[in-house]
Amino acid sequence: MSRDNGRIKGVNTRLAHAGNDPHGFHGFVNPPVVHASTVLFPNAATMAARDQKYTYGTRGTPTTDALCAAIDELEGSAGTIAVPSGLAAVTIPLLGFLSSGDHILITDSVYYPTRHFADTMLKRLGIEVDYYDPHVGAGIAALIKPNTKVVFTESPASNTFEIQDIPAISKAAHAVGAIVMMDNTWATPLYFKALDFGVDVTIHAATKYPAGHSDVLSGTVSANAECWPRLSEAFVTLGCCAGPDDVYQVLRGLRTMGVRLAHHEKSALDIARWLEGQPGVSRVLHPGLESHPDHKLFKRDFGGSSGIFSVVLSGGGQKKAHAFLDTLEIFGLGYSWGGFESLAVHVSVADRKVAKGPYEGPIIRLQIGLEDIADLKQDISAGLSAANAAE
Ligand SMILES: *Cc1c(COP(=O)(O)O)cnc(C)c1O
Repeated sequence: MSRDNGRIKGVNTRLAHAGNDPHGFHGFVNPPVVHASTVLFPNAATMAARDQKYTYGTRGTPTTDALCAAIDELEGSAGTIAVPSGLAAVTIPLLGFLSSGDHILITDSVYYPTRHFADTMLKRLGIEVDYYDPHVGAGIAALIKPNTKVVFTESPASNTFEIQDIPAISKAAHAVGAIVMMDNTWATPLYFKALDFGVDVTIHAATKYPAGHSDVLSGTVSANAECWPRLSEAFVTLGCCAGPDDVYQVLRGLRTMGVRLAHHEKSALDIARWLEGQPGVSRVLHPGLESHPDHKLFKRDFGGSSGIFSVVLSGGGQKKAHAFLDTLEIFGLGYSWGGFESLAVHVSVADRKVAKGPYEGPIIRLQIGLEDIADLKQDISAGLSAANAAE
């Protein structure tokens, strides 16, 4: 914000203006989309000293600065990097903060590609990887080794939506000098301000709610003042910068993220509550429901819930899951989420080492889009009837 005299209180006010500096660009409301590799210097001395704000395209442009400033404002972070995907937003800080011989603790309920990266590249680089129960809380202290450098969290859990006690985990990690990273994609900084709960480095797949339209891949990583120099150094060293058009689209998506999220939240909660009473449904895994085992923890730390949760069918296997999915007409069958449209996917916990369940039947993850609730319920009802007839 170019002007902030204390009048900016609400998050939607922030979202409408964060990162924009119209009077820096001739009054145009939005920042320019700067396509850049080379940046010219006025003379040899300035070039030799790199003594100007922008020096090369990989190191940032007015477009990336606008997005990073907006995310800093929302996260309360010291600095943010914009990278080409949510997965890059996971791998870049891990490469930046870990060295051969170090140990990392990762929640067992982590987004699967994060686990894959840890089990392949991190292990090949000589980093020890262990997985912990998402409900570990302060018990993480017993798993920390002298060489533990990073505790990686993701809350709620990917696909199964357990809530982690982030303040307790952060306290234990900081006591031995380890840093805490969090994949905060589900809540966005609107519903969970990770740095306020002890997280040092917060990660977003901006592909999801920030971009919001299923057409852009993007990631952001933000750090507190202590971790920012190392994160920034990793970003510059790896050369993993985001393209200007994608960055612009994420900034555009941010302007409406507050109103979109409020709609996703309301519809998802309504449908989740309704699903609890539907035939063929064993459980609904949504931390915003009073029936969720971690609901108290959720209420303590989170400001709201987003549009994605899972439902456990009562009994049966793949045949039943496929009967449900194949009957849906409005819900698309596809990966990712955070866009305007509803999606469904049969998820697996087969990769888990600790947090395996038991689950009574197939787990179906639903992303509730911006469509009308009555239509979505009708679609799900048809799916459940087909699933119940299948086995
Ligand atoms: C989607 C997702 C990612 C990866 O984002 P991409 O942009 O698809 O690479 C990372 N973490 C979580 C929790 C996600 O849901």
